[in-house]
Amino acid sequence: MTRTDTNHLITLNDDRTIPQLGFGVFQVPDEEAVNAVETALDAGYRHIDTAAVYKNERGVGAGIVRSGLTREQVFVTTKLWNTDQGTESVRAAIDHSCELLGSDFVDLYLIHWPAPTIDKFVPSWRVLVELREEGRARSIGVSNFHAPHLARVIEDSGVVPAVNQIELHPYMQQRELRAEHARLGIATEAWSPLGQGGELLQDPVLVAIAKEHESTPAQIVLAWHLAIGNIVIPKSVHAGRIAQNFNATEIELTDEQVTMIDGLDRGAAGRIGPDPDTATF
Ligand code: NDP
Repeated sequence: MTRTDTNHLITLNDDRTIPQLGFGVFQVPDEEAVNAVETALDAGYRHIDTAAVYKNERGVGAGIVRSGLTREQVFVTTKLWNTDQGTESVRAAIDHSCELLGSDFVDLYLIHWPAPTIDKFVPSWRVLVELREEGRARSIGVSNFHAPHLARVIEDSGVVPAVNQIELHPYMQQRELRAEHARLGIATEAWSPLGQGGELLQDPVLVAIAKEHESTPAQIVLAWHLAIGNIVIPKSVHAGRIAQNFNATEIELTDEQVTMIDGLDRGAAGRIGPDPDTATF
C-alpha cells in the first residue's frame, strides 16, 4: 500500500465519515474484482462501492484481505436489490452480502432503487433503520431516489437517509435534487461520475481545462465533483486509470473553471442510465 488521502472526508448526518472519493465496481466480474480492489487500495482509495446485484461482493471482500488492510480501514458500501425489498427479506439480503464480503457489518447500506412497481421501499427503510441501530449497517441511505421518494421514507420513519447515490456528471448535474439534499442534510453521491467514460471525456471544455492542469479530462471531471461536494465513485479495471482517478484529489479547480463545467449541464437530456420513476426492473 502506498498512501492514503486524508483530506477528503465527508461527515454524514449520523456523524460518521466517508472518504469523498471511492472506487466503484459495477460490471466488474467477481474474479476481476479481487485484483481491481487490491489495486485501488494500493493506490490509496479507502472506499469501495459494490451492490448485491453486481455479483462481486465476494471478490471485493477478497481484494480487501489481499491488500493487507484491516476491514476497519476500508469503507464498504453495498446495496439492497429490488427483489429483496420488503419487511421479510431485507435481513436475509444483508446477511448474504456480509457473508460474501467476509464481514460482520457494512459501512453503508443503500436501497438500490425506489422501484415504484414494487413499492416496498418504505417498509424496507424501516428495516434499514433497525439494522443501523443494531450496528449491522453503520450508516444507511438510498440510491436513485427522487424528492417524493425521500419525503415518503422520512415522513414514515423520521430518519433522514445519510446518502442518496444518484446518476450525476457534468452532462446531468441534478441541481434541484442536490438542493433538496442540502435542505435535508443528505450527502449527494454521484454514480457514473465520468459519464461511463463516453462522449463526456471528449468535451472541448474539459479537454481545455485538462490542458491547463496538465491532467486528463477524467481527472478534471472528478476534481469538479470534489469541488462541488459530491461523494464520487469512479470505476476502472486498469491500474493506470485507477491511480490517475485517485490523483484527482490533488487538482484544485479555479472558481471560473468550476463555473465553466457547471455550464455543461444538459439536465434530464444528459441522462445515461434508467429513470428511477419509470424503471421496471
Ligand atoms: P463511470 O462514470 O465511473 O465510468 C466508468 C467507465 O469509464 C469505464 O468504462 C472505464 O473504463 C472508464 N474510465 C475510468 N477511468 C477513466 C479514465 N481516467 N479515462 C478514461 N476512461 C476512464 O461509470 P460507472 O457506471 O461504472 O459508475 C461508477 C460506479 O457508480 C459504479 O462502478 C458503481 O459502483 C456505481 N453505480 C451505481 C449505480 C446505482 O444505481 N446506484 C448505477 C451505476 C453505477 P475501464 O474500466 O476500461 O478503465
